[in-house]
Amino acid sequence: MKKYNFYAGPSILSEYTIEKTAEAVKDFAGTGLSLLEVSHRSKEFVAVCDQARDLVKDLLHVPDTHEVVFLGGGASLQFCMAPYNFLGTKAAYLDSGTWASNAIKEAKCFGEALVVGSSKSENYSCLPKGYEVPSDVDFFYYCTNNTIFGTQLHEDLHVGVPTIADMSSDIFSRPIDFSDYILLFAGAQKNLAPAGVTLIIVRKDALGKLDRCIPTMLDYSTHVKKESMFNTPPVLPIFSALKTLEYYKSLGGVEAIQELNQQKAQLLYNEIDSNPFFKGTVTCKDDRSVMNVCFVMNDGKEALESEFNSFAASRGMVGIKGHRSVGGFRASIYNAMTLEGVQALVDCMKEFAQTH
Ligand SMILES: *Cc1c(COP(=O)(O)O)cnc(C)c1O
Repeated sequence: MKKYNFYAGPSILSEYTIEKTAEAVKDFAGTGLSLLEVSHRSKEFVAVCDQARDLVKDLLHVPDTHEVVFLGGGASLQFCMAPYNFLGTKAAYLDSGTWASNAIKEAKCFGEALVVGSSKSENYSCLPKGYEVPSDVDFFYYCTNNTIFGTQLHEDLHVGVPTIADMSSDIFSRPIDFSDYILLFAGAQKNLAPAGVTLIIVRKDALGKLDRCIPTMLDYSTHVKKESMFNTPPVLPIFSALKTLEYYKSLGGVEAIQELNQQKAQLLYNEIDSNPFFKGTVTCKDDRSVMNVCFVMNDGKEALESEFNSFAASRGMVGIKGHRSVGGFRASIYNAMTLEGVQALVDCMKEFAQTH
């Protein structure tokens, strides 16, 4: 039976990424060596890293003011690296979910982390609204897609101060306006590659402004200067990232991917809204994520939850169980998920309703 991968992360990768990575594990770039055993300084791998960096710039139209860096340590390391490099006295944070609140905790080690808006009291079922960002902060920080709660900021915010965004779960899902960003980061395991690498896009002239000693490995300048080769980078995930980027290019770039994502999300949300067995958990419909679609059994149908879970599994749906802080179901329909995969889930929901 065909399996449809709706895991939230690590998550679905394109078939192209997986096939090309598997081939390179056997024989990398005709070297007769496995990708698992080549030097990161070999000319073949340096070329991979350079091409991946160039393709990120090409796909996202990254301006010359910014540089692309690949780092280990996961997105969570960025929760501390960002304030280490950019927080002098005070920064503004938007508390839109678990990942944002984890970032706020880390920022407090470096200065004042002012929470300008929070939707915690509504269990993050909407994005925070009606907040103001003071002009005297070092930066404004937010998470563009709340993987756990299924809410998403659909555009880049411009509040008149340098801005930092965690785009771990929606990078390459739409074009980005870089004008206010000093830093963007994304752990690879949602929309790019297997776990192990984090994509960083940093504004070069924003670095080196703080009067603080930053350990070499945690200083973005180190990795910008050494082109991600200061120490051994995650070789296999960077190779896979390049293959995913090639795949994105073949789809027509992020503009085409954005359109496809909207179609996929609309298909699934329409079913959730019209099928009497289910309801969405995000209460502000404009904030619904096109990447992580959260839903529960409708009122009066709660007892059928585990039955739907096994029904869906029997039809090849994998990883749709919701995060424990929301419950119910979460279908992660990242860039690599096809329209056909979403249609299969929708068909499964329709069939469940007809047979129950
Ligand atoms: C998954 C995720 C993280 C954490 O990533 P790690 O690489 O596990 O540290 C951070 N932010 C968002 C938005 C995520 O989805």
